Amino acid sequence: MGKAKKGLDVESDITDGLANSFDRMNDSIKYNPLFHRILYLANVVIALMVYLAKLTNSSKDQKLNAMHVFIILTVFFAVDFLMYRVDYFSSRKIFLIFRAVELIAFEIIVALIPNLMIIFAALCVLVTIFSIEYMLYNTNFTKDYIFNRRLFIIIIFVASAVLGMKFRTETETICFILTQIGIVFAAFTIVDMIVSINEKNERKIFKLTLEVSDIQDTNKKLIEYQEKIESTNEQINYQRIEMQRTNKELAQVNKETEAQTNVMRFMASTFDISKCIDVLTDSIMETKQPKLCAMYTEPDEYINKHGNFTVKTNYTSVERRLRKDIEQIYSDFKANVHKSKIYTETELFQFKFIGDANINAIAILPLSDGMEIYGIMMIASDNEEYFEKGLNYYEASVAEFNISVKNSRLYLMMQDMAHKDGLTGINNRMYFMQLFDAAVKKAKRKKSSLSVALYDIDKFKTVNDTYGHLAGDAVIKTVASVGNKYAEENGGFVGRYGGEEFLIVLPDKSEKEALPILETMHEEIKNTVVKHDQDNIKVNVCIGLTSYPSICEEPNMLINRADMAMYYGKEHGRGRLVIDDPELIKE
Ligand code: GH3
Ligand code: MG
Ligand code: MG
Repeated sequence: MGKAKKGLDVESDITDGLANSFDRMNDSIKYNPLFHRILYLANVVIALMVYLAKLTNSSKDQKLNAMHVFIILTVFFAVDFLMYRVDYFSSRKIFLIFRAVELIAFEIIVALIPNLMIIFAALCVLVTIFSIEYMLYNTNFTKDYIFNRRLFIIIIFVASAVLGMKFRTETETICFILTQIGIVFAAFTIVDMIVSINEKNERKIFKLTLEVSDIQDTNKKLIEYQEKIESTNEQINYQRIEMQRTNKELAQVNKETEAQTNVMRFMASTFDISKCIDVLTDSIMETKQPKLCAMYTEPDEYINKHGNFTVKTNYTSVERRLRKDIEQIYSDFKANVHKSKIYTETELFQFKFIGDANINAIAILPLSDGMEIYGIMMIASDNEEYFEKGLNYYEASVAEFNISVKNSRLYLMMQDMAHKDGLTGINNRMYFMQLFDAAVKKAKRKKSSLSVALYDIDKFKTVNDTYGHLAGDAVIKTVASVGNKYAEENGGFVGRYGGEEFLIVLPDKSEKEALPILETMHEEIKNTVVKHDQDNIKVNVCIGLTSYPSICEEPNMLINRADMAMYYGKEHGRGRLVIDDPELIKE
């Protein structure tokens, strides 16, 4: 029998064994036991009919006796045994044909035997053997098993045949035959039942085993799926953690970018560098949370006249010490390091300001306008690995700050150039007039005093003529700067009104308050000796003073009135300070 694989394509030993028994079962299903039972029953009936015919029509010349029957039976069994040995019965068809021939031959023999007892005994033996043989063949037992059973049954029926010979009457003989038939059928039924239960169980087991195998298979697949799901879950988990980390980093970057944008916006909106430094250091402290953030800038003519040092930290003693050391740290850095640098471990020893504070990393970045370093930014942390990711953020902040400083400086320089007189550095006439208009408006609004003085160098042409134009320039510069000094000291402002004519405005000062200031200024100018080449040049000025509202009620006339007072001075001996008097000085 070939291996027929059914259902699942599985290779395990269990399922192979099951497939074999399934094949055998299928084979035995094809074999119809009822048909064979009918066949042998028919044989028995024929045998009975032959026997009854003999009773009625007994013939004397029958030659066969018990010995003949025994020999014939022996031959049958010998052939049967031989065919079994050469595996001839592996074909059921041949087996059936052979048995049929056996039976027909036996009917013929029976018909010829004179000794009825022997005939019946032989008949019973043969029928029972055949029946049981078929019955066993019909089961799933092995061939060896069938053969052993057959031998066993032969022995039993030889014994029963011997016993059968002892029957005397016909009634006894018939009872014996019927008993034999009964035994055969009882055996059929029992074995059929066993076989059917066996088959059912086998089917059940097979089905269950298939189910188990299915379940095992499904389980295996499930385990595989589970493993896959677990590994996918693991990956998802890992990715989630990665994502959380990235999100956190992104949030930090966003925060930093936002902070930087805010600082940038602020820096773009003002030229106040100290405020910019304040906002920038605050922003760094909040965003990056170091232990210290400081900035130092050199004094700058336009934007940062006195220099700046800002430090943000909670370590007050560190701050105090750093204020003392910062200029030295800056000049060392500018002279020896020039570029951004991170200091850790023993490199920190050079910074005495640290003291016993928990500072384990310091970064110093240069502030540079592209040509020259003009300051530093210092960041300090308690974490030694604080700058592990580099200084990009601080570099970017510093770059923005540098741009802002450069822009501010440029703007203020331009503004300065537009406002200042090229020779003297004081306000030019145009800008002076702007300041003057504003001062007038303010005085009017506040109803406050506003004193205006105009002064002109006496006989300046002579200076030019005597010492030359450059000497004249030096004189103009000196006289202007003295005026500027007094204006600044007294909350006022000056302007170069003409070649060697200057205006000085003192807001909130009446002529009484302005007078001593101007007298002192006049004294200083008179006493000033301008040194040019080998020449010592002395000059004097004529000053005209007027004041709103005490002398001049019309503020727009203030400059005119001051000019007239000055002119009055020129006309009356020069080198004088003349207070405006509308009664005396008329247009
Ligand atoms: P007075 O006492 O009447 O004022 O006599 P003065 O010679 O000063 O006369 P005035 O004020 O009219 O002369 C102004 C002179 O100043 C004319 C001009 O040559 C000279 N001056 C004007 N601007 C400059 C300048 O920028 N540099 C020099 N060196 N001289 C100038
Ligand atoms: Mg003059
Ligand atoms: Mg003049």
